[in-house]
Amino acid sequence: MRFDLVTIFPEFFAGPLDHGILRRARETGLVEVHVQDLRVFTKDRHRSVDDRPFGGGEGMVLKPEPLFEAVEALLGRSLGSAEQPAACDPKTAIVLMSAAGKLFRQETARRYAALDRIVFLCGRYEGVDERVAEHLATEEISVGDYVLSGGELPATLVIDAVTRLIPGALGNEASSQNESFTEHSASGHSPLAGAQHAAPLQVDAKLSAAGGSHNLRLTNHLLLDFPHYTRPADFRGWNVPEVLIGGNHAEVANWRRAAALEKTQRNRPDLLLR
Ligand code: SAH
Repeated sequence: MRFDLVTIFPEFFAGPLDHGILRRARETGLVEVHVQDLRVFTKDRHRSVDDRPFGGGEGMVLKPEPLFEAVEALLGRSLGSAEQPAACDPKTAIVLMSAAGKLFRQETARRYAALDRIVFLCGRYEGVDERVAEHLATEEISVGDYVLSGGELPATLVIDAVTRLIPGALGNEASSQNESFTEHSASGHSPLAGAQHAAPLQVDAKLSAAGGSHNLRLTNHLLLDFPHYTRPADFRGWNVPEVLIGGNHAEVANWRRAAALEKTQRNRPDLLLR
Protein backbone atom coordinates (compact mmCIF):
# COMPACT_ATOMS: atom_id res chain seq x y z
CA MET A 1 0.00 0.00 0.00
CA ARG A 2 1.27 3.42 -0.89
CA PHE A 3 -0.01 6.62 0.75
CA ASP A 4 0.65 10.03 -0.80
CA LEU A 5 -0.02 13.19 1.19
CA VAL A 6 -0.41 16.41 -0.79
CA THR A 7 0.05 19.32 1.62
CA ILE A 8 1.40 22.84 2.08
CA PHE A 9 2.93 21.68 5.39
CA PRO A 10 5.13 18.67 4.51
CA GLU A 11 6.99 18.84 7.82
CA PHE A 12 3.71 18.23 9.68
CA PHE A 13 4.01 14.46 9.23
CA ALA A 14 7.45 13.98 10.79
CA GLY A 15 6.12 12.85 14.19
CA PRO A 16 2.79 11.05 13.84
CA LEU A 17 3.95 8.42 11.35
CA ASP A 18 7.06 7.48 13.32
CA HIS A 19 5.60 5.49 16.20
CA GLY A 20 4.26 2.05 16.96
CA ILE A 21 2.33 0.12 14.36
CA LEU A 22 2.73 2.79 11.66
CA ARG A 23 6.46 2.99 12.12
CA ARG A 24 6.82 -0.79 11.96
CA ALA A 25 4.57 -1.05 8.89
CA ARG A 26 6.79 1.48 7.12
CA GLU A 27 10.02 -0.18 8.23
CA THR A 28 8.91 -3.61 7.06
CA GLY A 29 7.72 -2.19 3.72
CA LEU A 30 4.06 -3.02 4.33
CA VAL A 31 3.21 0.61 3.64
CA GLU A 32 5.09 3.39 1.92
CA VAL A 33 4.33 7.03 2.75
CA HIS A 34 5.24 9.85 0.38
CA VAL A 35 4.73 13.48 1.39
CA GLN A 36 4.29 15.88 -1.52
CA ASP A 37 4.77 19.63 -1.03
CA LEU A 38 1.97 21.32 -2.95
CA ARG A 39 4.02 24.50 -3.50
CA VAL A 40 6.29 22.65 -5.91
CA PHE A 41 3.40 22.87 -8.38
CA THR A 42 2.99 26.65 -8.28
CA LYS A 43 4.36 28.81 -11.08
CA ASP A 44 4.32 32.35 -9.71
CA ARG A 45 7.06 34.14 -7.81
CA HIS A 46 5.17 33.95 -4.50
CA ARG A 47 4.43 30.23 -4.89
CA SER A 48 0.80 30.92 -4.07
CA VAL A 49 -1.50 27.95 -3.64
CA ASP A 50 -4.58 29.96 -2.67
CA ASP A 51 -6.70 32.83 -3.96
CA ARG A 52 -9.75 34.90 -3.00
CA PRO A 53 -13.19 33.33 -3.29
CA PHE A 54 -15.43 34.12 -6.25
CA GLY A 55 -18.61 35.71 -4.97
CA GLY A 56 -16.77 37.41 -2.14
CA GLY A 57 -16.53 36.55 1.53
CA GLU A 58 -13.88 35.74 4.09
CA GLY A 59 -10.78 33.67 3.74
CA MET A 60 -8.79 32.09 0.95
CA VAL A 61 -9.45 29.02 -1.16
CA LEU A 62 -6.91 26.46 -2.42
CA LYS A 63 -6.61 26.78 -6.21
CA PRO A 64 -7.33 23.79 -8.45
CA GLU A 65 -4.25 23.90 -10.74
CA PRO A 66 -1.51 22.96 -8.24
CA LEU A 67 -3.64 20.14 -6.80
CA PHE A 68 -4.45 18.65 -10.23
CA GLU A 69 -0.82 18.93 -11.29
CA ALA A 70 0.48 17.41 -8.06
CA VAL A 71 -1.76 14.36 -8.47
CA GLU A 72 -0.93 14.07 -12.18
CA ALA A 73 2.79 14.10 -11.31
CA LEU A 74 2.28 11.47 -8.59
CA LEU A 75 0.22 9.17 -10.80
CA GLY A 76 2.25 9.86 -13.93
CA ARG A 77 -0.78 10.44 -16.12
CA SER A 78 -3.14 13.20 -17.18
CA LEU A 79 -6.41 13.56 -15.31
CA GLY A 80 -8.17 15.11 -18.26
CA SER A 81 -10.50 18.07 -18.65
CA ALA A 82 -14.21 18.76 -19.13
CA GLU A 83 -13.90 17.69 -22.79
CA GLN A 84 -11.77 14.66 -22.09
CA PRO A 85 -12.36 13.21 -18.62
CA ALA A 86 -9.82 10.58 -17.62
CA ALA A 87 -10.75 7.07 -16.50
CA CYS A 88 -9.92 6.23 -12.91
CA ASP A 89 -8.03 3.25 -11.55
CA PRO A 90 -10.27 1.25 -9.17
CA LYS A 91 -7.29 0.32 -6.95
CA THR A 92 -6.31 3.98 -6.39
CA ALA A 93 -8.37 6.41 -4.30
CA ILE A 94 -7.86 10.18 -4.43
CA VAL A 95 -9.29 11.37 -1.14
CA LEU A 96 -10.09 15.00 -0.44
CA MET A 97 -10.14 15.67 3.31
CA SER A 98 -13.17 17.87 3.95
CA ALA A 99 -15.49 18.74 6.83
CA ALA A 100 -18.25 18.62 4.23
CA GLY A 101 -17.35 15.09 3.09
CA LYS A 102 -18.90 11.70 3.79
CA LEU A 103 -18.12 10.38 7.27
CA PHE A 104 -15.06 8.16 7.60
CA ARG A 105 -16.00 4.95 9.44
CA GLN A 106 -14.41 1.60 10.22
CA GLU A 107 -16.12 0.18 7.12
CA THR A 108 -14.42 2.91 5.05
CA ALA A 109 -11.09 1.88 6.58
CA ARG A 110 -11.76 -1.75 5.64
CA ARG A 111 -12.55 -0.76 2.04
CA TYR A 112 -9.41 1.38 1.81
CA ALA A 113 -7.21 -1.41 3.23
CA ALA A 114 -7.88 -3.42 0.04
CA LEU A 115 -6.56 -0.67 -2.26
CA ASP A 116 -3.05 -0.32 -3.73
CA ARG A 117 -2.72 3.41 -3.31
CA ILE A 118 -4.41 6.36 -1.61
CA VAL A 119 -3.60 9.98 -2.42
CA PHE A 120 -4.75 12.40 0.30
CA LEU A 121 -5.45 16.02 -0.56
CA CYS A 122 -5.10 18.15 2.58
CA GLY A 123 -7.13 21.36 2.53
CA ARG A 124 -6.35 24.57 4.43
CA TYR A 125 -7.90 28.03 4.90
CA GLU A 126 -11.60 28.17 3.88
CA GLY A 127 -11.18 24.96 1.92
CA VAL A 128 -10.56 23.82 -1.64
CA ASP A 129 -11.96 24.86 -5.03
CA GLU A 130 -15.01 22.64 -5.55
CA ARG A 131 -13.73 21.38 -8.92
CA VAL A 132 -11.21 19.34 -6.94
CA ALA A 133 -14.05 17.51 -5.15
CA GLU A 134 -15.97 17.10 -8.40
CA HIS A 135 -13.31 16.20 -10.95
CA LEU A 136 -10.07 15.22 -9.18
CA ALA A 137 -10.98 13.43 -5.95
CA THR A 138 -12.62 10.02 -6.12
CA GLU A 139 -14.06 10.70 -2.65
CA GLU A 140 -14.56 13.56 -0.22
CA ILE A 141 -14.13 12.38 3.37
CA SER A 142 -14.74 13.91 6.79
CA VAL A 143 -13.33 12.44 10.01
CA GLY A 144 -16.13 13.79 12.18
CA ASP A 145 -18.71 16.48 12.77
CA TYR A 146 -16.32 19.27 13.72
CA VAL A 147 -14.14 21.71 11.78
CA LEU A 148 -10.35 21.46 11.98
CA SER A 149 -7.88 23.91 10.52
CA GLY A 150 -6.33 21.58 7.97
CA GLY A 151 -6.57 18.17 6.32
CA GLU A 152 -3.20 16.93 7.60
CA LEU A 153 -4.44 15.63 10.95
CA PRO A 154 -7.52 13.93 9.38
CA ALA A 155 -5.36 12.29 6.68
CA THR A 156 -2.96 10.97 9.33
CA LEU A 157 -5.90 9.56 11.24
CA VAL A 158 -7.15 7.73 8.13
CA ILE A 159 -3.66 6.34 7.41
CA ASP A 160 -3.49 4.99 10.96
CA ALA A 161 -6.92 3.34 10.82
CA VAL A 162 -6.22 1.78 7.40
CA THR A 163 -2.67 0.60 8.12
CA ARG A 164 -3.64 -1.42 11.18
CA LEU A 165 -6.14 -3.36 9.01
CA ILE A 166 -3.51 -4.43 6.48
CA PRO A 167 -2.67 -8.09 7.17
CA GLY A 168 0.63 -8.28 9.04
CA ALA A 169 0.54 -4.75 10.48
CA LEU A 170 -0.55 -5.67 14.00
CA GLY A 171 1.81 -8.58 14.51
CA ASN A 172 1.00 -10.85 17.42
CA GLU A 173 0.34 -8.14 19.94
CA ALA A 174 -3.24 -7.38 18.95
CA SER A 175 -6.02 -8.36 16.63
CA SER A 176 -8.41 -6.27 14.58
CA GLN A 177 -10.96 -9.13 14.46
CA ASN A 178 -12.87 -8.23 17.55
CA GLU A 179 -12.60 -4.51 18.06
CA SER A 180 -15.06 -1.65 18.32
CA PHE A 181 -17.15 -1.22 15.15
CA THR A 182 -16.77 -4.86 14.15
CA GLU A 183 -20.03 -6.48 13.15
CA HIS A 184 -21.13 -9.12 15.64
CA SER A 185 -23.32 -11.74 14.04
CA ALA A 186 -24.58 -14.90 15.71
CA SER A 187 -23.37 -17.04 12.81
CA GLY A 188 -20.19 -15.06 12.23
CA HIS A 189 -16.59 -15.72 13.20
CA SER A 190 -16.48 -13.36 16.13
CA PRO A 191 -15.37 -15.01 19.37
CA LEU A 192 -18.28 -13.18 20.98
CA ALA A 193 -20.79 -14.88 18.69
CA GLY A 194 -22.96 -17.59 20.16
CA ALA A 195 -22.40 -16.36 23.69
CA GLN A 196 -25.99 -15.24 24.03
CA HIS A 197 -27.11 -18.81 24.70
CA ALA A 198 -24.90 -19.17 27.74
CA ALA A 199 -25.64 -18.50 31.42
CA PRO A 200 -27.63 -15.44 32.61
CA LEU A 201 -25.84 -12.18 31.95
CA GLN A 202 -24.31 -10.32 34.83
CA VAL A 203 -24.95 -6.94 33.23
CA ASP A 204 -28.54 -7.73 32.21
CA ALA A 205 -30.15 -5.58 34.89
CA LYS A 206 -28.01 -2.62 33.98
CA LEU A 207 -28.84 -3.18 30.33
CA SER A 208 -32.56 -3.10 30.92
CA ALA A 209 -32.15 -0.10 33.17
CA ALA A 210 -30.43 1.66 30.26
CA GLY A 211 -33.87 1.70 28.70
CA GLY A 212 -35.65 -0.56 26.25
CA SER A 213 -32.53 -2.56 25.51
CA HIS A 214 -34.42 -5.87 25.80
CA ASN A 215 -35.93 -4.96 22.47
CA LEU A 216 -32.55 -4.79 20.79
CA ARG A 217 -31.63 -7.27 18.13
CA LEU A 218 -28.45 -8.85 19.43
CA THR A 219 -27.04 -9.62 16.02
CA ASN A 220 -25.52 -7.70 13.13
CA HIS A 221 -24.88 -4.55 15.07
CA LEU A 222 -21.67 -2.63 15.10
CA LEU A 223 -20.75 -2.85 18.75
CA LEU A 224 -18.07 -1.04 20.69
CA ASP A 225 -15.27 -3.11 22.17
CA PHE A 226 -15.90 -4.82 25.51
CA PRO A 227 -14.15 -3.37 28.59
CA HIS A 228 -10.63 -4.65 29.27
CA TYR A 229 -9.00 -5.14 32.67
CA THR A 230 -5.54 -6.07 33.83
CA ARG A 231 -3.73 -6.49 37.19
CA PRO A 232 -4.24 -5.62 40.00
CA ALA A 233 -7.63 -7.31 40.51
CA ASP A 234 -8.30 -4.91 43.37
CA PHE A 235 -7.22 -1.35 42.62
CA ARG A 236 -8.13 1.09 45.41
CA GLY A 237 -11.16 -1.01 46.17
CA TRP A 238 -12.41 -1.03 42.56
CA ASN A 239 -12.56 -4.67 41.65
CA VAL A 240 -12.30 -6.44 38.31
CA PRO A 241 -15.57 -8.27 37.50
CA GLU A 242 -15.44 -11.67 39.25
CA VAL A 243 -16.34 -13.61 36.08
CA LEU A 244 -13.12 -12.52 34.32
CA ILE A 245 -11.01 -14.04 37.09
CA GLY A 246 -12.91 -17.33 37.23
CA GLY A 247 -11.44 -18.77 34.01
CA ASN A 248 -14.74 -20.08 32.60
CA HIS A 249 -14.35 -19.23 28.91
CA ALA A 250 -18.05 -19.46 28.03
CA GLU A 251 -18.97 -17.18 30.92
CA VAL A 252 -16.20 -14.73 30.01
CA ALA A 253 -17.39 -14.61 26.38
CA ASN A 254 -20.94 -14.17 27.56
CA TRP A 255 -20.03 -11.35 29.93
CA ARG A 256 -17.97 -9.58 27.28
CA ARG A 257 -20.76 -9.66 24.75
CA ALA A 258 -23.25 -8.24 27.23
CA ALA A 259 -20.78 -5.63 28.48
CA ALA A 260 -20.03 -4.54 24.89
CA LEU A 261 -23.73 -4.18 24.26
CA GLU A 262 -24.27 -2.25 27.49
CA LYS A 263 -21.39 0.11 26.70
CA THR A 264 -22.67 0.64 23.16
CA GLN A 265 -26.11 1.43 24.55
CA ARG A 266 -24.61 3.90 27.02
CA ASN A 267 -22.02 5.67 24.83
CA ARG A 268 -23.23 5.17 21.27
CA PRO A 269 -26.94 4.27 21.17
CA ASP A 270 -26.99 5.49 17.55
CA LEU A 271 -24.99 2.40 16.51
CA LEU A 272 -27.79 0.12 17.70
CA LEU A 273 -30.39 1.97 15.67
CA ARG A 274 -28.61 1.60 12.36
N1 SAH B 1 -14.92 26.03 5.30
C1 SAH B 1 -14.84 24.62 5.51
C2 SAH B 1 -13.78 24.26 6.56
C3 SAH B 1 -12.38 24.47 6.09
S1 SAH B 1 -11.22 23.90 7.26
C4 SAH B 1 -16.20 24.12 6.00
O1 SAH B 1 -16.89 24.88 6.70
O2 SAH B 1 -16.57 22.98 5.70
C5 SAH B 1 -9.78 23.69 6.28
C6 SAH B 1 -9.46 22.28 5.83
O3 SAH B 1 -9.35 21.43 6.96
C7 SAH B 1 -10.50 21.62 4.94
O4 SAH B 1 -10.34 21.98 3.59
C8 SAH B 1 -10.21 20.13 5.17
O5 SAH B 1 -9.16 19.69 4.34
C9 SAH B 1 -9.73 20.12 6.61
N2 SAH B 1 -10.79 19.68 7.55
C10 SAH B 1 -11.40 20.44 8.48
N3 SAH B 1 -12.30 19.71 9.18
C11 SAH B 1 -12.24 18.46 8.68
C12 SAH B 1 -12.93 17.26 8.99
N4 SAH B 1 -13.86 17.18 9.95
N5 SAH B 1 -12.62 16.13 8.28
C13 SAH B 1 -11.70 16.19 7.30
N6 SAH B 1 -11.01 17.30 6.96
C14 SAH B 1 -11.28 18.43 7.64
